[in-house]
Amino acid sequence: MSTAPDYDIIIAGGGLVGASLACALSTSGKSILVVESKSLDSGTQPSYDERTVALTYSSRNIYADMDIWHRIEAEGVQPILDIHVSSLGHFGQAHLSCAQAGTPALGYVAPVRAIGAVLWEKIRQSPNITLECPSTVTDATSCNTCCQVMVATGSVVRTCSTRLLVVADGGRSTLAGILGFRCNRQPYAQSAILSMVQSDRPHNGRAYERFTPQGPLALLPHHAGSALPGQGFGGQHYAVVWSTADAGVARRLELDDQAFVRELQETFGYRAGAFSLPTPRKAYPLSRMQVRNPVRKRAVLIGNAAHCVHPVAGQGFNLGLRDIAWLAELLREPHRETGDTAMLEAYKRNRSADTRRVARFTHSLVGCFANRSRIVTLGRNLGLFMTEHLPPVKRALLRNTMGLHELPARTGVAQDPAGSRPHP
Ligand SMILES: Cc1cc2nc3c(=O)[nH]c(=O)nc-3n(C[C@H](O)[C@H](O)[C@H](O)COP(=O)(O)OP(=O)(O)OC[C@H]3O[C@@H](n4cnc5c(N)ncnc54)[C@H](O)[C@@H]3O)c2cc1C
Repeated sequence: MSTAPDYDIIIAGGGLVGASLACALSTSGKSILVVESKSLDSGTQPSYDERTVALTYSSRNIYADMDIWHRIEAEGVQPILDIHVSSLGHFGQAHLSCAQAGTPALGYVAPVRAIGAVLWEKIRQSPNITLECPSTVTDATSCNTCCQVMVATGSVVRTCSTRLLVVADGGRSTLAGILGFRCNRQPYAQSAILSMVQSDRPHNGRAYERFTPQGPLALLPHHAGSALPGQGFGGQHYAVVWSTADAGVARRLELDDQAFVRELQETFGYRAGAFSLPTPRKAYPLSRMQVRNPVRKRAVLIGNAAHCVHPVAGQGFNLGLRDIAWLAELLREPHRETGDTAMLEAYKRNRSADTRRVARFTHSLVGCFANRSRIVTLGRNLGLFMTEHLPPVKRALLRNTMGLHELPARTGVAQDPAGSRPHP
């Protein structure tokens, strides 16, 4: 006689994506185990560090649907009111604004540690979710009816069974390899150098993306903290995300603060003011990766375990949040059996187009702006010009930037009448 699995769902990895999925399922009635290797305050926690992330307007809607957006907002998020896009040494530039989009903001900049604190608090308050941390999923085997998962806590290892294993262990997923998923990874030979700088004038909620032959440079407006409670538009700090060819990373990290600011200013110009006071720099090696098929018997990969993209357009986590929105939608449908083949195939059908589109979009941005050929240079300048001057082109880019058209109807319909229903 077969016995019921220990859990409906085991989530391996309680980082940004795994913890967000758990929150999305907090009212689903499913029994859930979240296994996370590193505690929230660990200095080696890979998901929750000093970074800020740009969340699209659709990601805001996903968190609002989980009833936690107000808590994330209370931690201090900066609305992005407009985005200025330019290319070093060339005439083309484009400008996107929330007024054109008809929304209060194009997106939001939030510190990942603050998001983590809100997610873990919600998990701890949810009676159907158990969080085991620090514990590690060390092995998994799946069959038609369940997945057997080995969980190590210190030197104690136990086996648990589940109807569905959700693998959210990040871009270097060991579990994907153990379960036999095949992925295609290509390094960019670039790292993103992150720092925070102060400007001598307010940012007014404006983000900048500047393309240079060495790689894109993004400035994200940072929340003003207590300077303007509830407003956050008066801040003068920017999070710098500076893509740098591997050969130049060590040098740029070792520059003293003055030399770093000088180089930043030479590359970016003074459009956002004069910069000073950079915080300690950190480099993140960049690669792109996509699994051929994110589902197998009783197992699914989501977030960075399924796809890594260049941070040029700030889309990686947003894409992961849309994985969550769709997976949670299917898991909540009463006629579905948790984790069976039909459910997982429906998930795959619903996610493949969005994943491919974002991967293509970000990769072509990196390639196009790094290319020095005259024809490509002319083409991209014209592209920026058309974006600026042709309303339909601008509308299409706005929808991409805000991620509105790829949400399940439950989360997207109020903001995006074109939001599609899941494929059956
Ligand atoms: C420089 C930079 C800037 C970025 N900016 C943006 C941005 O502006 N907007 C955006 O949308 N995205 C951005 N991203 C992408 C975003 O950071 C990632 O998409 C996101 O962190 C992925 O989350 P994840 O939970 O899938 O993976 P991770 O963040 O890697 O989390 C994986 C978690 O799994 C845990 N884990 C690993 N193995 C195991 C195991 N075997 N058992 C248990 N637990 C395990 C880890 O400890 C970790 O907590 C940026 C990325 C970089 C590098």
